[in-house]
Amino acid sequence: MRIVLLGAPGAGKGTQCKRIVGKYSLAHMSSGDILRQERANGTDLGKEAQGYMDSGALVPDELIVAMMVKAINEGPSEGFILDGFPRTVNQASELDKSLAANGKKIDVVLNLEVNDQIIAERMGGRRSCPKCGAVYHLTNLKPKVDGVCDEDGETLIQRPDDNLDVVKKRLETYHEQTKPVVGYYKKSGVSVHDIDANHGADAVDVVICGILDKISAS
Ligand code: AMP
Repeated sequence: MRIVLLGAPGAGKGTQCKRIVGKYSLAHMSSGDILRQERANGTDLGKEAQGYMDSGALVPDELIVAMMVKAINEGPSEGFILDGFPRTVNQASELDKSLAANGKKIDVVLNLEVNDQIIAERMGGRRSCPKCGAVYHLTNLKPKVDGVCDEDGETLIQRPDDNLDVVKKRLETYHEQTKPVVGYYKKSGVSVHDIDANHGADAVDVVICGILDKISAS
C-alpha cells in the first residue's frame, strides 16, 4: 500500500505514522525527519534547508522532490506512508510522475483535519528529543520525568519552528500551499479520506485502521 498522509503541521501525522507502520508493514518516510537528519549531519542540503525551516517557510520543491524520490527509490519495495510530503501541488505531480515511471501510484490519501486553534495549542506545548526525535507534550503527553526523554535520557527541547510566531507562519504556509494538494488528489481520482483529527490520537487511529483494514482486505 502506498499512502500519503496530509494535514497541517501539528495535526498528528507523525504520531499516527508511528502507530500504524508496524501493523501494515509500511516504511515511514517523513520529509521533516529526513531534513532534520541532514541538518544534524551538516550536509549541503541541511545547510540550505535551515533558513526556510526555522522561519516556517517551505524548502524549495526541487530540493525536496529530489530528496524524497531518492528516499522512496532506495527504500523498501513494499508499501510506504509519506508524512509531510508532498506539501505543494507541484511536489504531488512530480511524485506521481516519478512513481508512474516505475509503474507505481499512490493508492490512498489520508487527510487529517484539525482546526488552527487546536494546532497552535498542540504545537506550543510540544517538546522533542534532539537525539531520537521522540515527541512529547507539556500537558497531553508528558515524559516520565519532566524535561527528559523516556527513550534515551536526553534533555527535551522546543524545536525552533514550534514557537508561536513560526507556528502561525507554518499554518499560513499550509493553507496557501499545502491544502490545495487535497484537491489535486481528489481531482486525479485517488481515494481521499478526510478525517476529523480534532480529538485524541486513539480516536484517529481507530478511523485510520478501519480505512486501511478495508483496503488490505480488498
Ligand atoms: P515537519 O516536521 O514535517 O513539519 O517539517 C519541518 C519543516 O521542514 C517544514 O516547516 C518545512 O520548512 C520543511 N519541510 C518538510 N517537508 C517539506 C516539504 N515536503 N516541502 C517543503 N518543505 C518541507
